[in-house]
Amino acid sequence: MRIATLQFAPKLGDVEGNIERANSLLRSGKVTSSGTEHGVGVDLLKPDVLVLPELALTGYNFPSLKAIQGYAEPAGKGLSANWARETAKRLRCKVCIGYPEIERDLEEPDKVTYYNSLLVVDEEGEIVVNYRKTFLYYTDETWAAEGQVERGFYELEFASRVKSSSLETLPQEPKRIATSFGICMDINPYKFEAPFDKWEFATRVLDSKSQLVILSMAWLAMPGLEDLDALKDKPDMDTFNYWLQRFWPLLQRKMRHQVDIDGGKAADSPKKIILVFANRSGEEPPTEETKPPARYAGTSTIVAVTQRPTPDPAEQDAGSGAQTPGVESETDDADDPRAFDVKILCWDMLGAQEEGICFADTTADPRMVFALKKAI
Ligand code: GLN
Repeated sequence: MRIATLQFAPKLGDVEGNIERANSLLRSGKVTSSGTEHGVGVDLLKPDVLVLPELALTGYNFPSLKAIQGYAEPAGKGLSANWARETAKRLRCKVCIGYPEIERDLEEPDKVTYYNSLLVVDEEGEIVVNYRKTFLYYTDETWAAEGQVERGFYELEFASRVKSSSLETLPQEPKRIATSFGICMDINPYKFEAPFDKWEFATRVLDSKSQLVILSMAWLAMPGLEDLDALKDKPDMDTFNYWLQRFWPLLQRKMRHQVDIDGGKAADSPKKIILVFANRSGEEPPTEETKPPARYAGTSTIVAVTQRPTPDPAEQDAGSGAQTPGVESETDDADDPRAFDVKILCWDMLGAQEEGICFADTTADPRMVFALKKAI
């Protein structure tokens, strides 16, 4: 799968300017904090899916409902939806974009509800998902209602790409990829009050057998992080570590999906779940609620957590040799973390203040691999 995210620093309320900025970054690929352009434009990268940050074209840190109201649009109708549609059709890919949604009650049109939403459109510009953020951050609570978790799962369909060198003309079955969607705070404990190890979001990913996780974010730099300026084009590893920590169950519980997102069929090929963290960068003015300016952590990244079955741990304990590779027990030891080796693959990671495209071709070798040594 070819996945791209666009990390940039939208200006609060400047929708037209943000659209221009997004388009120009998609063309050029990457811009460092000092303004140097480098990288490969989206036309050459040919992603299957492009993910934008939370409230991507409006900006995030609105102080009140009054301030954001004028920017809200009904699902599928407005500047964010139009941009997503046009971009999806032009690039022939799915586009996921965060935007402020207004929903009017059909019977009482004066009755309106606002949501912090994520619109997903397909290659034809048709809406496939409209997900509403369920775990709200303080800033969202001033204007948005909670969405429903159930809307955060969908089987995305991808047509198989016909390679130009191939003579194959038979139409191939589209691939259906079980996908979980989330918006930023969704990966945190509910209201920061639920126990840290309730793992609401990661549990949802495993229980739904998702193979792809799309997260659209406006994640703030950790409080007290004065040296975001010093990081510039380097990623903020504290934020990256925290994000991974919130997916701890993927390292501990056995993945139960059958097919591989990239079509790997070998019996001993690892299972993997791809996590797409599409964050924004930049800074926005302070509000009454958030006294210091809102500074975003950037660090967008595309990683996969992989599990490769290991020889049966019980037999290993008894010293009686190895199990046939790939033959996995579905029963008692299924959630025993000794039953599989975990690796974290990373294809791309942007800097804290960088703007541009974060890209992964998940069939290609990753740029970094983290192996995990479990303390059992
Ligand atoms: N916990 C996240 C943060 O601190 C939530 C922000 C958000 O939902 N936009 O950045």
